[in-house]
Amino acid sequence: MDNSTSQSTPARHARRVVLITNTTLDESDGVIPDGVVVSVFDEKRPAVTGLSPDLLAALRRAATAADADGVRLRVNSGWRSPEYQERLLRNAVLKYGSPEEAARWVATPETSAHVWGNAVDIGPPDGAKWLSEHGAAYGLCQIYRNEPWHYELRPDAVENGRPPMYADPTEDPRMRL
Ligand SMILES: [Zn+2]
Repeated sequence: MDNSTSQSTPARHARRVVLITNTTLDESDGVIPDGVVVSVFDEKRPAVTGLSPDLLAALRRAATAADADGVRLRVNSGWRSPEYQERLLRNAVLKYGSPEEAARWVATPETSAHVWGNAVDIGPPDGAKWLSEHGAAYGLCQIYRNEPWHYELRPDAVENGRPPMYADPTEDPRMRL
């Protein structure tokens, strides 16, 4: 009797899953550990320092004004390495059950504005709310209606106001590379 064939397939499969999920990601990938509160003025964490200089400058100007209103703006997520974005996408496929549904929430490493340093997710909720009311004056705009925390720089908004939002990222032509 030979059991090795029937037993080896699940064992190999399990090991491959472990290898994928154990790939080490850390703050150098833009990860912000659970429970860590990150200021927009942070000078060390790549999640913040990896943001494009123009976006970061606008964000800091807005945060200073928010602070005067008694509201703190925090960075929940900023720049992300392609590896980190890939991990988020894979987790989203597991969470939402299909690549199509995951695409409404998480972009690929090729299309994510976070990987380019051009997007920042703002917290806590009252910080995002403040930015939804005042951000356009700094060129900071919510892009997707389903992501009230996700902001990108649209310099024209200073003069013209916020451009129309997409319902979700699947409407964004940039996501169809
Ligand atoms: Zn985002």
